Amino acid sequence: MKSLVSLISLFLLLNSSLANASWRKDMIDDGVAIAKDILQQAEQNTDDADWKRLFQKLYKRIATNGVSVIHHESPSEDFVGCTDNTIAFTQAGLHPRDIYICQLAFDQGGATAMAQTLIHEAAHLIGFSNECQATKIERGAMLISDYGVQYRNGYFTSCGF
Ligand SMILES: [Zn+2]
Repeated sequence: MKSLVSLISLFLLLNSSLANASWRKDMIDDGVAIAKDILQQAEQNTDDADWKRLFQKLYKRIATNGVSVIHHESPSEDFVGCTDNTIAFTQAGLHPRDIYICQLAFDQGGATAMAQTLIHEAAHLIGFSNECQATKIERGAMLISDYGVQYRNGYFTSCGF
């Protein structure tokens, strides 16, 4: 009986870690799709030529040129670059297509919050290394689209947004 119980708990453990892994991947896939929609909407909603160009460039980066969004499947793992306050990061110089998702990114909300994170990181990849600039772009995309800001990262306050 005892071994049956442990077999069952092993099965449940394996099952829940598989479910967890696909849940994470789904959130990122959905986040990419929503990010594309946000950027298209924002581009259509604005008359400002600079914003339009920027949203087109971000859309191209995410939809056409491709980004690889990298994450760990287990909540107990994280990238070395993920501190207690890091939601995601890029190394634009070394890895110009890669967006690294930290565990904290999964706690900001659902797939729309993930989309907001991806837009911020994509801004880094197209050349905006400054955090206030990337946050301004992230915020602009969310507000100019119909989605609205999903969460305020730490830079919203320190950059005066
Ligand atoms: Zn950033």
